Amino acid sequence: MKCCDAEKYIMKYIDGEITKQEAEQLKQHIQQCQSCEENFLFYDNMIQVFEQMPLYEAPKDFESNVMMQIQTLEKIQQRSYAKNRILGHIWSIFTVFFGTGAILVFYKQPIIEVFQKNTYLKQWVTNILPIEQNISNQGQVLGNITENIILWTDKTLVNSFGILLLLLCVVCAIQYIMLKKKKRTDRIQHKWIK
Ligand SMILES: [Zn+2]
Repeated sequence: MKCCDAEKYIMKYIDGEITKQEAEQLKQHIQQCQSCEENFLFYDNMIQVFEQMPLYEAPKDFESNVMMQIQTLEKIQQRSYAKNRILGHIWSIFTVFFGTGAILVFYKQPIIEVFQKNTYLKQWVTNILPIEQNISNQGQVLGNITENIILWTDKTLVNSFGILLLLLCVVCAIQYIMLKKKKRTDRIQHKWIK
């Protein structure tokens, strides 16, 4: 038997998996080889020390305590996940409305023209136009007031289109941050489920 085989047998002996035949072979090698004998005695001593050590039992409520803490963590995770989801939905709806509104404001005339070319949509547009005109007039009044304020604030720098574009950028940026946050929460949630 070679020393490396003896080492394998010693490991088996530690694990309690050594057969009678292997134990006999190991015994024979140890009687001839001093280094393997020292090795064997070292591990054998260690096993004896471990066997003499008193067993420490975990407190009775250890498992339930750990489970309770896991559940609490899971609840916190789920709550923040739900909150982020709701906020994400609200923000998405707002963005859609805001974006549609912005497009309608700037491309109102071409859109109306396209609609009027269609036989089905024409009637609808004809019905909706007076209402739109009314809202537009109200908007015009508001717009005039805003415009006066803007002109008063800064004549050269600020215009309504710029403000709208800036707002759109801000909205998109917030949307992006929320999406990233949501993805992170999703990942954590996924980990928990696993
Ligand atoms: Zn040896």
